[in-house]
Amino acid sequence: MLLNMQALQRKSKVATQTSEEAIIWIATVGTICFVIALMLFDNLPSNIANPIKELTESIKQIAAKNYSKRVHFESHNEYGELAQSFNVMAKKLEEYSNSNLERLMMAKKRIETLINNMREPVIGLDEHFMVLFMNDTALQICNLKKEDVIGKSISEISKRNDLIRTLTSNLLNSSLQEQNEKPLLIKIYADNKESYFEKEIIPIKIVPTGEKEEKNIGNVILLKNITSFKELDFAKTNFIGTVSHELKTPISSIKMSIQLLENKKIGSLNPEQQNLIENIKDDTSRLLKIIGELLNITQVESGAIQLNKTPTTITEIIEYATNATKSTAEQKEIDFDIDIAKNIAPILADKEKTAWVITNLLSNAIRYADENTSIKIKAQETDNHKVEISVTDIGQGILPEYLDKIFDRYFRVPGTKKDGTGLGLSICKEFIEAQGGTITVKSEYGVGSTFTVNI
Ligand code: ADP
Repeated sequence: MLLNMQALQRKSKVATQTSEEAIIWIATVGTICFVIALMLFDNLPSNIANPIKELTESIKQIAAKNYSKRVHFESHNEYGELAQSFNVMAKKLEEYSNSNLERLMMAKKRIETLINNMREPVIGLDEHFMVLFMNDTALQICNLKKEDVIGKSISEISKRNDLIRTLTSNLLNSSLQEQNEKPLLIKIYADNKESYFEKEIIPIKIVPTGEKEEKNIGNVILLKNITSFKELDFAKTNFIGTVSHELKTPISSIKMSIQLLENKKIGSLNPEQQNLIENIKDDTSRLLKIIGELLNITQVESGAIQLNKTPTTITEIIEYATNATKSTAEQKEIDFDIDIAKNIAPILADKEKTAWVITNLLSNAIRYADENTSIKIKAQETDNHKVEISVTDIGQGILPEYLDKIFDRYFRVPGTKKDGTGLGLSICKEFIEAQGGTITVKSEYGVGSTFTVNI
């Protein structure tokens, strides 16, 4: 028992000693671990975060097109590799950007040279109406210097330059912007002579990358030199004028001779001769009509429409026109349905020219109407103290695609079999517009047409 007791006491002492030693060891190791953990806790985030921060900054710089940005991580771990790859990418981007810039500069120079060498004047404006470019021809005709215009506001320039004001009037004046469809004819002293230019404003629209909507980024003002065409046009007008004038006298005398031949006092004609005389009479009338139209158009083209405005009643005009076309209408068994509103005040108009217009509309209506129909002639006063005269026929009508062309000179609807010059309606338009009026057409193919004069 004693022996056992001693052994137990010895073992317990050893165990106590060992446990004390173990506690010391554990405490020491625990402290060391804690210190290491504390050091790691302090250092590790900066080791990871710093390169990421630097990398993020560099990526931002690259995104902002600063391709010279590089990253420098000393370590040989994954960050080192990442830095190397990033630097390679940045270098390649830098090379690509430089070569692209060079190419763009080349392309820009080429386009600038091209625009400068164009014989037509060209002016380029940005969306804020600042001058981007103006080629030498444009500078020359506007009498301006490059350094005074490039980058300057066109509205400022237009204040001291009349031609620029004319060129940009409907661009700067928003109320006129819509009236941009038709090219405008401008007379300018260029090439030591009076030259004619056709102005065209071309809006430049793009769809920016990644966007869906079109954006206006400026306008190009283009002047087409049409002087040579104008000169040819003048020559043509003069030629037509002279020839028609020269032809008018002999044809009128043929007409007179025919009238004399028809006179029984000179001698009687057999039915065959009478028939031939009728044919000659028809042809001479047609020739005289064509010559009359040609003379009218030369008057219009040379800008020499002489108006003789007098107070005129609508009844007078319509009576004149219906009398002049009555016999042709009878040949096709067409009658006139005249509806003139009561109490229309007399208008101040050129009686002869307005009557010519209505006569022409009536003779067209007769020509293109079906036989045995009625042509409606309606006149009424409109709200704005104007008078509206409309001529409606029942007949072949006009295809919609030709409606906006039929008032053009020499235009005839393709396939029109009836003889004519294609001048009648264009003269009508000029005569009516010269008096401040309008002429319009409405038509349904296969049903008929209505021509309306507002004067
Ligand atoms: P022209 O009658 O001498 O050919 P116009 O200028 O008077 O010349 O008419 C131009 C064209 O318009 C005609 O060729 C014809 O095709 C068409 N046109 C004019 N009036 C009518 C009408 N009332 N109905 C159908 N077509 C018409």
